[in-house]
Amino acid sequence: MEVIPGLWMIEGLGPCYLYRDADTYTLIDTGITGDATRILDHLTDIGGKPEQLKQIILTHSHPDHTGGHAELIERTGAQVLAHELDIPVITGKEEITIPDVPEEERKFMEMAIEETPLAKPARVDRVLQDGDEIELGSGATAVHVPGHTPGSLAIFLPKEKLLFAGDAAERDEEEKLILGMFNLDRPLAIKSFRKLAELDFDIACIGHGKPLDKDASLEFRRVAEKLANG
Ligand SMILES: [Zn+2]
Ligand SMILES: [Zn+2]
Repeated sequence: MEVIPGLWMIEGLGPCYLYRDADTYTLIDTGITGDATRILDHLTDIGGKPEQLKQIILTHSHPDHTGGHAELIERTGAQVLAHELDIPVITGKEEITIPDVPEEERKFMEMAIEETPLAKPARVDRVLQDGDEIELGSGATAVHVPGHTPGSLAIFLPKEKLLFAGDAAERDEEEKLILGMFNLDRPLAIKSFRKLAELDFDIACIGHGKPLDKDASLEFRRVAEKLANG
């Protein structure tokens, strides 16, 4: 699905995004284990070649976002970028921590754990921190949004008015924008969501669910206000 010209969403259990620059591509997240072929087929379908995949940005360490990572770096020359606090899990130095979630999220989390194979650990090439610049579009910034995991990242392209929120945000069963589920630290995740709501963007690609395709930061602000009130 083409979100805007030059940006595609690859749907799946762990959605990911392909962004085209002049003659290179960036992949944001990598789906679940086994998705690498599907991602590279998608790249081919839109006219790209595996060797044009310049970088992979992992929004966080969960296996529905890092599943294709190990295979993709073997099959492309892509550099991998992630926030320093999630790198120990991505590279297999630490085990993933299962969050203690609110009652209403429990059944969804059990389902997610059952459906998602563990990700094979693999290397990260560049350590990102809040505010770091990334070569993407007219220039992107890494925004640290801890809470879902310690090293969760959003990627903000101010000129394009485009945000990749990772699992800091998702849609519920009624397609409404909500705070992402399965947070290790929910109050911190809310704080991070509010940080995103202060940015100015039209389009938001979120961790799960269809992208918001207009006035997205207004929608984020509405949800942030609700979160602040209860
Ligand atoms: Zn997640
Ligand atoms: Zn996820």
